Amino acid sequence: MHPPSSMTPVAPQPDAATAPIAPRSFDQVIASYQPVIGLETHIELGTRTKMFCGCAAAFGDEPNTNICPVCLGLPGALPVANAAAVESAILIGLALNCSIASWCRFARKNYFYPDMPKNFQISQYDEPLCFDGWLDVRLPGDSVDIDGNVEQPSSVRIEIERVHMEEDTGKSLHVGGATGRIHGATHSLVDYNRAGIPLVEIVTKPITGTGERAPEVARAYATQLRDVIRALGVSDVRMEQGSMRCDVNTSLQPIGASEWGTRTETKNVNSLRSVERAVRSEMCRQAGVLDAGIRIVQETRHFHEDTGQTTSGRSKEEATDYRYFPEPDLVPLAPETAWVDSLRERLPELSAEKLARLQTEWGLTDKDMAAVLGAGAVQLIAATIAAGATAEVARKWWLGELARRANADGVELEGLAITPKQVAEVQQLVDRGSLNDKLARQAIEGVLAGEGEPGQVVAARGLEVVSDTDTLGAAVDAAIAANAEVAQKVRDGKVAAAGALVGAVMKTTKGQADAQTVCTLILERLSAS
Ligand code: ADP
Ligand code: MG
Ligand code: ZN
Repeated sequence: MHPPSSMTPVAPQPDAATAPIAPRSFDQVIASYQPVIGLETHIELGTRTKMFCGCAAAFGDEPNTNICPVCLGLPGALPVANAAAVESAILIGLALNCSIASWCRFARKNYFYPDMPKNFQISQYDEPLCFDGWLDVRLPGDSVDIDGNVEQPSSVRIEIERVHMEEDTGKSLHVGGATGRIHGATHSLVDYNRAGIPLVEIVTKPITGTGERAPEVARAYATQLRDVIRALGVSDVRMEQGSMRCDVNTSLQPIGASEWGTRTETKNVNSLRSVERAVRSEMCRQAGVLDAGIRIVQETRHFHEDTGQTTSGRSKEEATDYRYFPEPDLVPLAPETAWVDSLRERLPELSAEKLARLQTEWGLTDKDMAAVLGAGAVQLIAATIAAGATAEVARKWWLGELARRANADGVELEGLAITPKQVAEVQQLVDRGSLNDKLARQAIEGVLAGEGEPGQVVAARGLEVVSDTDTLGAAVDAAIAANAEVAQKVRDGKVAAAGALVGAVMKTTKGQADAQTVCTLILERLSAS
C-alpha cells in the first residue's frame, strides 16, 4: 500500500484569493442566499476503560500513564470492544430516535498522524451502529422579523443521519513557539492517554430551510443534544474540556438555484456560543467569496475564538483517501433485540416529555421555556430548585444577572464559577432579609470572583442589610436636614417625594439600608413634625 498523493501533508492554503475578500453583512447574505448546515458532533464517553483495551479512560492524568500494547498499536496486540461503550452508544441512538443495526462492523480509517499510534483509527464507515433518527429542537421566539412581527417560539426537526462508534486519538503538545501551534514550535510532545478513549460521532443530515435562523438553529441543536446526552449520564459533555466537540458544515445556495453550494467544515468550535458564531461568520465569508465570482473550496477551516473568524485549514480528503476497510481484528457487532429493548426501557424521561413536565411544574409560558432552553439553563434551574429555591427565583437569577455575566465573559452559563447550590444560598439570604436585591448581586459577584461561599462573601464584604432603627434613624435625620425642600413637600402631603429621601439614605448607607424601614422612619418623622 502506498499513500495516495492527496494524503501527503498539505501546507495551509491561502484563502480563496491572495487579496482578502471582504465578508458580506448577515442581512446581505440572507437577501441572496439560503444556508445549508450540517453538524458532526463527537462525544467522549464516560466509560471507566478505553474502547478496545482495559486502560483507564481518565482525563488529566500524568502523560502516557494510561497506555498498553493495544492502544499503542504494538504489533500483535488485539482489540476487544468495550460492552459498556457499545451500550452507551445504543442509548444515545435510542434517545435520538434512531434505528439500531442488528449487525454492523467496525472499519479501519487509514491516515498518518503522530498522535495516532496505529496510523489508523478504528471507526465505523458504511455500517453505523445507529441510523435514521431525529431530534426536535425548540427555538426561542424573541426576534422580530422584517415586518415587525414578533416571532413565536417554534421547533425544528433535525434529522440524524447516523450515530457511530470510534476511538479518540492522542494529544500533541507543540512546545517552544508563541502560540502553542505547530508553526514556530521547536518540538512536539505526544500524550497517548486519550488514544483509544471511546467516542460516539453524531452526524446530522443537511439542515435546510432555516434561513436567517441557521446560526441559532445550530446552537439550539448543540445545546439540546448536550442536554439529552447529559440526561443519559453517558458523558459529561463538556465542550471546554473537549468531551463534546462540534464540527460545523456550512454552505450557501443562491436563492432560486437548484443545487446546494460547496460546504466547508469548521473545526475548533469550543463552546455553544461559538457554534452559532461559526455558522454566522462562515455564511458572511462565503457570500463575499461567491459575490466576487470565486468558487468555495471544500476544506476544513479553523474557528478563532478571539476574532470570531475562520481561517483555511486543509483541503478536504475524499473517503477513498482513507482506504476504509472492515476491521479484521474485531468480530461484527450484533446487538440482540432483547438487549436493545431493555436499554430502551432504561431511557430516562427525556426531551419532549420531560421538558413539557418541567414547563408545567415551573409555570412557564412557551416563550419563557424556549428562552430557558436557548440559554442552556434547564439543568441549572432544576438543580437550583432542588437546592431549595423557587422556580421563579431560580429562573430569574440564571436568565438575568448570571446570563448577563456569562455573556460579558463570553462563557456558557455552566462555565461560570458558581453552583446552583450557591445561587440557592444567596436567595435564602434574601428571603431571610439579610440581603436585598442589590446586595445579593454583590454577593454573587463575590462568589464568581472566587471569594468563597455566599455566607463568607457577605461577611467579608460586610454586605448585610441594615435594619436597626437607631442607625437608620440617624441617616434619615441627616437626609431630611440636607434636603429641606423635599422634606417640606412630604410634610405638605406629597408622599411620593419621600422617594428622593429614601434614595439619599441608600446612598449614605451604600445601598445596605432596609428600604422598607427607611420609608417608614421618614414618614413617621415628617408627619409628626
Ligand atoms: P465528512 O466525513 O466528509 O465530514 P460526513 O458525512 O461525516 O462527511 O458529514 C458531513 C456533514 O455535512 C453532515 O452533517 C452533512 O449533513 C453535512 N452536509 C453535507 N452536504 C452539505 C452541504 N452542501 N452544506 C452543508 N452541510 C452539508
Ligand atoms: Mg465526518
Ligand atoms: Zn490500552
